[in-house]
Amino acid sequence: MAELPPPFAGDVAAPTRLRPKVAIIGAGPAGLEVARVLTGLGLEVLVYEAGTQVGGGFARFSHVRLFTPWRMNVAEGALQDLAEGGVPCPVDWDERPTVGAFVERYLGALGRHPRIAPTLRLEHRLLAAGRDRALRIDHPRMPQRADSQFRLLLQDGRGRERIARADVLVDCTGITQRAAWVGRGGIPAPGETALRAAGRIEGWLPDLAGEARERFRGKRILLVGAGYSAATAAVELAELVRETPTTRVEWVVRHEATDPIEAIPDDPLPERAALTRLANAAVAPGGPIRLHRENWVERMTSARDGVLDVTLSGGARMVFDELLAMVGFAPDFTPLDGLQVHLDYATRGPRKLAQLLRQEDQAGPRRPVAAARAPTPPGPEVLMHPEPDLFVLGHKSFGNRSDYFFQSGYLQARLLAEVMRWRTL
Ligand SMILES: Cc1cc2nc3c(=O)[nH]c(=O)nc-3n(C[C@H](O)[C@H](O)[C@H](O)COP(=O)(O)OP(=O)(O)OC[C@H]3O[C@@H](n4cnc5c(N)ncnc54)[C@H](O)[C@@H]3O)c2cc1C
Repeated sequence: MAELPPPFAGDVAAPTRLRPKVAIIGAGPAGLEVARVLTGLGLEVLVYEAGTQVGGGFARFSHVRLFTPWRMNVAEGALQDLAEGGVPCPVDWDERPTVGAFVERYLGALGRHPRIAPTLRLEHRLLAAGRDRALRIDHPRMPQRADSQFRLLLQDGRGRERIARADVLVDCTGITQRAAWVGRGGIPAPGETALRAAGRIEGWLPDLAGEARERFRGKRILLVGAGYSAATAAVELAELVRETPTTRVEWVVRHEATDPIEAIPDDPLPERAALTRLANAAVAPGGPIRLHRENWVERMTSARDGVLDVTLSGGARMVFDELLAMVGFAPDFTPLDGLQVHLDYATRGPRKLAQLLRQEDQAGPRRPVAAARAPTPPGPEVLMHPEPDLFVLGHKSFGNRSDYFFQSGYLQARLLAEVMRWRTL
């Protein structure tokens, strides 16, 4: 690892507590890795997870097969740590597990590790975080900020609220708490807010090859989006059209390229390349899906019999039984409202990391593991905010960029460990 600069230099106030209590929010792959690494350093850690199990948020995608094989899904040293902890997790390096298998086998084993299990507080949702003796508006360097503890408002599974305190706060809550809007310009289309509240818009990729298949058979379906969830949905829906030709699928993308999914030249992930090919083939002339390029959803309303009446920016107006809004998610920073968080104007993720990722974008084509494969490994300063001892790691650290991979979060956990080592010298 490159030599590290003093972690609390610049606009970050120096910490005072030498044996910090660390609160990790979220027991997904990133949060559990942070817990593994920090408990390995002997630090006092608690992991607050909103769901009833570790990997709670990610488990909603159980039916999805990962693009990355096991060798890219586990953290360096983790399998050995699991074996030594009596919770072995043997894997076939080249196999690509489903999200369900990844959560159950790898995250499940991490959750049972004797160093991590006692730290877990399931069904504990962070509602808000502030400081015991400072407001967000107060000066960044005022002593009460760094000297007072984080004050965490938590809600348990029965709706009861309580306060917990911590010296270091690590937000690993991912980005799937809030779906992005489907309307033109990324804001709600007229009618969208009400239809979302009524549950008429599907923002999560359903199991179209499994339990959700019959729901979509023979229906009129609007698919919106140009990422890999949209691609997965398109491939499954194309199959459904072949099986049941009365099924009708219209696919809306806002860009003007001929192919709805952009192919990555020499894609190092063969399954992603194959998915891209199949999805793009589905919109070939005479193919099962009709593509509407350079279009946005302009407005929508619930028409007679509950069908969706949708107008596209190109002028087309159609009715649909189902709307698959595969437009991604937006990070939710509401719980950190009481703290000085430095967010990027474009990604709405932490600013310094966003800038680094943009520089990488300019330097060349995207790598599958953006931060981890950067030519110069970033120092821990990219993880920092004006608020001392606050870290936003994992998928949320990329804001609404879609090129986050597990390994980026695992690298961040190692960088955080460097900060903690320095802090407790
Ligand atoms: C469909 C899909 C496929 C993907 N495939 C790959 C792949 O093949 N390879 C790869 O490397 N990456 C992949 N990714 C990207 C990424 O690695 C995953 O999204 C990963 O789950 C991100 O981990 P995380 O720990 O940051 O967030 P999450 O897995 O989302 O975990 C966040 C956790 O925080 C909890 N939480 C949220 N809010 C609160 C709160 N307020 N209080 C307490 N707890 C809270 C949630 O319940 C959740 O358990 C994929 C992502 C998706 C969505």
